[in-house]
Amino acid sequence: MDWDEFAAWSRRAADWGADYRRTLRDRPVRPASPPGAIAAQIAKSPPEAGEGFDAIFADFEDIIVPGMTHWQHPRFFAYFPANAAPESVVAEYLVSAMAAQCMLWQTSPAATELETRVVDWMRQALGLPEGFQGVIQDSASSATLAAVLVMRERALAWRGNAEGLSGQPRPRIYASDQVHTSIDRAIWVSGVGEANLVRVAGAGPLRGMDAGALRAAIEADTAAGHRPAGIIGSVGGTSTGGTDDIAAICAVARDFDLYVHVDAAWAGSAMICPEHRHLWAGVEQAHSVVFNPHKWLGAQFDCSIQFVRDPETLVRTLAIRPEFLKTHGVDGIINYSEWSIPLGRRFRALKLWFLLRAYGLEGLRAMIRRHVGWSGELAERLRRTPGFEIVTEPMLSLFSFRHRPGGVADLDAHNLALVAAINADGRTYLTQTRVDGKVAIRLQVGQFETTREDVDIAYRAIVECAGQASDR
Ligand SMILES: *Cc1c(COP(=O)(O)O)cnc(C)c1O
Repeated sequence: MDWDEFAAWSRRAADWGADYRRTLRDRPVRPASPPGAIAAQIAKSPPEAGEGFDAIFADFEDIIVPGMTHWQHPRFFAYFPANAAPESVVAEYLVSAMAAQCMLWQTSPAATELETRVVDWMRQALGLPEGFQGVIQDSASSATLAAVLVMRERALAWRGNAEGLSGQPRPRIYASDQVHTSIDRAIWVSGVGEANLVRVAGAGPLRGMDAGALRAAIEADTAAGHRPAGIIGSVGGTSTGGTDDIAAICAVARDFDLYVHVDAAWAGSAMICPEHRHLWAGVEQAHSVVFNPHKWLGAQFDCSIQFVRDPETLVRTLAIRPEFLKTHGVDGIINYSEWSIPLGRRFRALKLWFLLRAYGLEGLRAMIRRHVGWSGELAERLRRTPGFEIVTEPMLSLFSFRHRPGGVADLDAHNLALVAAINADGRTYLTQTRVDGKVAIRLQVGQFETTREDVDIAYRAIVECAGQASDR
């Protein structure tokens, strides 16, 4: 491909992207293709000779697109959103054209310095105090792993990296039963081990950890000769929005000198609205906080910000500093690869800069407020609809419900069949969870392009599919 062809195909890709976004509302949210249908259309071996780009692009349109789930669809109400505002997509076109490795300050000064600025913009936007600095990680999973490694090293007097874990006291980490599976994986990968993740049962409407139970668990572990290392707080858990009392957790942590990491991967975006900040009151006392601008806020995946109060502990845990990576000269230079697990880093700050400037905080707050409002309206509507019940009340824009018609013996099977029917219908896309062991259907309003009318269509799809399920 010469540069003229590169320009032409890039324009074609941009036009394709705009058409795709413009027409999403008319497509089913999820593809109908059965497992294996896409793979069956792709050659089993790589080509020996190069092919024309026309054929390659045509196959993208014919084979790949029909097999995609449309995460940018305005009636995507499943999981959590993965919003990619158009401005952030444009930033990613530019970033992928420059294709720079942004691991050190000197490998792209602009990427590092912009990252420092926009992360601080986000700190201010979320109302976090000045002491917090941050880094853009690839995912909340990585940020949580980094935080767990800091907990481990801190608890083992910084000897884990050098000596391994055998013969050391067991580092113990505490979390509620509502935390995301990325916490389990961080515990596994860090060598801490699932047996040392202490689950403190959630209680109350937000299913947060009981501070008294947390304290008792830490005291029992200390008496048993284990080494309490840290606490992972949840703000907006994935299943139903489970949220810990962060101030209460931090008070316990202070008494035992434990490191606190707060996972607000989804709900963090809502903290740009001051009226939602009570949900993480006390967060300024945490050591580490992760939130994903790539979820609700609109920065194209991947873009996960980890704020830390003391970067030195993170750098002490993760920086390798081999000779060839040393940045000589200027003081105060940040090499963000020392703040994260991978060495190589994409230029992730540009899309956040474009996004924040294009919408302003007021524009983004207005979106969050619309979504929270519509979610509440929809929950009320379903509550008043005969045969439906609300299982968990709206936490920001997430709630769960269940269809409970008379005469159905197995409600779990009925609701699983209902989600499948709703998703096969194509007008909307939802996912299920379990609350106290029983199936519930979760719904979050959070897509960038969603309108009130889309929410209304989702309501009708749910009620119509439930009516058909009950008739059978
Ligand atoms: C989505 C999510 C994660 C995982 O985020 P990744 O960036 O995909 O690793 C972790 N915790 C919560 C609460 C989430 O919603």
